[in-house]
Amino acid sequence: MNVLIANRGEIAVRVARSVHALGLRSVAVVTAADAGSPHADAGDVCATIGSYLSAEDVLDAAARTGATAVHPGYGFLSEDPAFARAVVAAGLTWIGPPPEAIALMGDKARAKAAASAAGVPVVPEGAGVFPVIVKALAGGGGKGMRVVRAAGELGAATAAAQREAHAAFGDDRVMVERYLERPRHVEVQVIADRHGTVAYLGERECSLQRRHQKVVEESPSPAVGAALRARLGAAAVRLARACGYEGVGTVEFLAADGEFFFLEMNPRLQVEHPVTELVYGLDLVELQLRIARGERLPELPTQPRGHAVEARLYAEDPAAGFLPATGTVRRYVEPLGVRVDSGIRLGSVVGTDYDPLLAKVIAHGPDRATALGRLDRALARFELLGVTTNAAFLRALLRRDDVRAGAVDTGLLERVLAEAAEPPPEDLLPAAVLAAAGTAHPAGPWRRALAGHGEARVRAGVVTAGARSWRAALRPSADPAPPLGPTWALDESFAVRIALDGIERRYCAAVTEDTIWIARDGHHLELRTRRPARGGSAATAGTLEAPMPGTVLLVHVADGDTVASGDVLLVLESMKMELAITAPHAGTVAGLGLVSGDRVALGQPLVAVLAEGDDPPPPAPATEPSVGREV
Ligand code: ADP
Repeated sequence: MNVLIANRGEIAVRVARSVHALGLRSVAVVTAADAGSPHADAGDVCATIGSYLSAEDVLDAAARTGATAVHPGYGFLSEDPAFARAVVAAGLTWIGPPPEAIALMGDKARAKAAASAAGVPVVPEGAGVFPVIVKALAGGGGKGMRVVRAAGELGAATAAAQREAHAAFGDDRVMVERYLERPRHVEVQVIADRHGTVAYLGERECSLQRRHQKVVEESPSPAVGAALRARLGAAAVRLARACGYEGVGTVEFLAADGEFFFLEMNPRLQVEHPVTELVYGLDLVELQLRIARGERLPELPTQPRGHAVEARLYAEDPAAGFLPATGTVRRYVEPLGVRVDSGIRLGSVVGTDYDPLLAKVIAHGPDRATALGRLDRALARFELLGVTTNAAFLRALLRRDDVRAGAVDTGLLERVLAEAAEPPPEDLLPAAVLAAAGTAHPAGPWRRALAGHGEARVRAGVVTAGARSWRAALRPSADPAPPLGPTWALDESFAVRIALDGIERRYCAAVTEDTIWIARDGHHLELRTRRPARGGSAATAGTLEAPMPGTVLLVHVADGDTVASGDVLLVLESMKMELAITAPHAGTVAGLGLVSGDRVALGQPLVAVLAEGDDPPPPAPATEPSVGREV
């Protein structure tokens, strides 16, 4: 078999690993936006395509490269029955369930009817009772869903769900079912060969979700014992049998008050499949390949061994309402002792074209507490600079008492967002200032910026930033040691030990001409030099950007005010420090959309000071995060 992997990112890399482990060849596909990414290198050969969503492009790549089979991964074309049929029609092996099963499960109403017919409990219809949830029949990725709490809101919510469903899936049909309060999301891994054997591999608990998208998953579920596992498993197997299932699939349930209800079935490999692999000691992609080759399922374990937890590392900024984050990866060191499924490496450019999932960190242990502890440590040791991630947010979540106790439900994460998105620790700022000052450019931009900043400086072993100062000492770290001095070059990353007021810690840092990233223990800070306010394109002339993420404390001016050079325009609070934003030159204030209490992201335009002849700045961009692709 020569397997074309019709996907990108971590899952394409992960599928290639199992293809090669079986001694098979692989074909990667890559778009121009992804050129040079790890998944392109993971294939024995790589073909360029226009889009991962184009069946035509993928089939053309298969023909050009002599591929004989197609693995779709998750997302993109994986749940498109027409694509599965086209693969088979082209004489290739489809590594997935029969197209009819995909089509059935792609329609939530038909899938529910099939589950009911197979004797699997389903979420009750919503007629006349509240609350209810309106759902797109073609839904996925949490899109096209609206919760309705009173009869009067049903019409508007239905219309909104229909609009969203039409835009996302080109299909505006919706259904209504009872909305369960605080349920758990528990899903069963099923697997079926082409000889009539259908089995289940326990369950995964996926209740920690944001916007109906999973963030942390584990197996087994802390709420499922051997007896319930057997009932859930039997129900899932009945459904898989009833729809002639082949390959791996996931039957999702909502569990509440000791009961469970069928939610949907995903006819593909799931993002969170590694937790099942770790506790059952299996390679699900290898099994998919064997099933597609017509082999019989081997003897499978019946109970999980130990406990596994996965955290999804996303390129997003929890401090800025989870806005998608972009950038170039400036440092990349994976932690040891855990499994990391990653789609990025040093130098990767993270944009907004695709899903923000960067990597999955999966820890296994003899018991749940050990697995959670290992995952927390691994997230602390994951050195990733240049792109803001949710690492610190994940750590705060994993250390909550309710999460540790396994007392989770699908609404928990959203209820605790504000608590979990805590600001970075205070020592990051002086550490960043110290690391930046060590850059080996005597008259370099950081020296100038720090000296001219008036807010941060390093002198005689003391770092001063704002109104605070710290006694500081800096020692090379072992891996790798910077040259003694210590100084380092621009555009390099390094690890360093910094003592502040007598406490020494290990940090990693990267410095470029206008930005420094510093991180420890999953917390990170990105700091920009104060950019000259003039220059750049005409549209941005005079615009001042936030040098750090923070909160607007005071606004001293209004649009149209005349200011002199050095006048204070507004005051930000960042890392418990006040930061005055001053006029870089005389002019007129424009584009001020902020009020006291607003949160601002790093680099966000704050206000402009227009000199004579400047164009007014463009309106501030909307801060609503865009929804990622279905995973
Ligand atoms: P999608 O296909 O978009 O992933 P699902 O039907 O799988 O949508 O639901 C995703 C999530 O939405 C669930 O894990 C759960 O958190 C929530 N949800 C869906 N249906 C209900 C319901 N009837 N009651 C409560 N929560 C629900």
